[in-house]
Amino acid sequence: MSVKAYAATAADKPIGPFELNRREPGAKDVEIEILFCGVCHSDLHTVRNEWENTVYPLVVGHEIVGRVTRVGAEVKNHKVGDIAGVGCMVDSCRVCDSCKAGLENYCESEQGFTGTYNSPDRKTGEITQGGYSEKIVVDERFVLRIPQNLELSGVAPLLCAGITTYSPLRHWKVGPGQKVGVVGLGGLGHMAIKLAHAMGAEVVLFTTSPGKTEDAKKLGANEVIVSKDEQQMAKYANALDLIIDTASAKHDPNPYLNLLRRDGTYVQVGAPPSADIVPFSVIFKRRQYAGSLIGGIPETQEMLDFCAKHNIVSDVEVIPIQKINEAYERMLKSDVKYRFVIDLKSLKQAA
Ligand code: NAP
Ligand code: ZN
Ligand code: ZN
Repeated sequence: MSVKAYAATAADKPIGPFELNRREPGAKDVEIEILFCGVCHSDLHTVRNEWENTVYPLVVGHEIVGRVTRVGAEVKNHKVGDIAGVGCMVDSCRVCDSCKAGLENYCESEQGFTGTYNSPDRKTGEITQGGYSEKIVVDERFVLRIPQNLELSGVAPLLCAGITTYSPLRHWKVGPGQKVGVVGLGGLGHMAIKLAHAMGAEVVLFTTSPGKTEDAKKLGANEVIVSKDEQQMAKYANALDLIIDTASAKHDPNPYLNLLRRDGTYVQVGAPPSADIVPFSVIFKRRQYAGSLIGGIPETQEMLDFCAKHNIVSDVEVIPIQKINEAYERMLKSDVKYRFVIDLKSLKQAA
């Protein structure tokens, strides 16, 4: 079927209107009319081919919330009219140990999981196309249930920014009595603050933008450190249990590593193309340098339910799709509080 969308056609061109061909829903598929799609920095890295793997033309977007419009004959957990979500994955091998453990994000097959965009589709062999579009068709195993009490535009970013920060906070067992550092106050960073605060930890934000201090405190940070100020940084030397680094641009991780206490862990979730670790930064205090990639489907559902219980959504600026190229420029200047979300109704208007 033909579906309206916005696509990237080259790394150096703005994205624009595009007609997409989607498969008809199969027996296990759910068709979703997309209401909102969050704008993740990964969309921008991909549109501009910063990870050097983009297949054009490409429709990005992996923070998708919408209404179920059709279901296949064998679909059990979703029905027409339900509100449903799709995050960064639409399929995986399903048989490896990680998939069987509900950690599809670490699928061990050669291909790994099937990304919501820019991935060969296991069903059709075509490149998957994401949420800057009217509709998407996804196997029900990769479709999330959306809690009824949350504002839908604010829910969309939970599907990537939310789970990407929730998963390491849970994996490293964050809770009361612990001090968690968050590097960067953007889409991921503001979710990390809200979630770590809700889990009972003391939260310190490290930012390059002094103007974000008040906001960070409202979001749940106990303290805000301007990372360029060495004196402020020294206050937390050997003090933190966990650091979640969400910064999107290349920066020096070593000053942050030195803020970890013995056996503390620094988790890289932001994905600039490279980072340079000085060995002594981890040798002293037996610190660990780790990474974390989104989260599995069961944990994503757990995160959504946690957010419903704690009334957590993303702070968003809703935009029509026609403003997407401008939104990318503003995102690069850190000029968004704190996630752009596209209202897909705007796709129905003339381009
Ligand atoms: P974003 O909204 O643009 O936020 C990134 C933040 O990084 C900015 O708000 C800024 O915060 C900080 N920053 C920017 N330039 C910096 C610099 N030169 N030095 C230090 N900090 C800088 O991006 P996002 O959507 O949250 O995504 C963040 C990163 O995570 C991206 O690289 C994205 O691809 C990656 N990501 C990874 C996963 C995963 O599974 N691991 C999932 C989703 C996204 P301040 O103004 O506060 O300094
Ligand atoms: Zn993302
Ligand atoms: Zn697998």
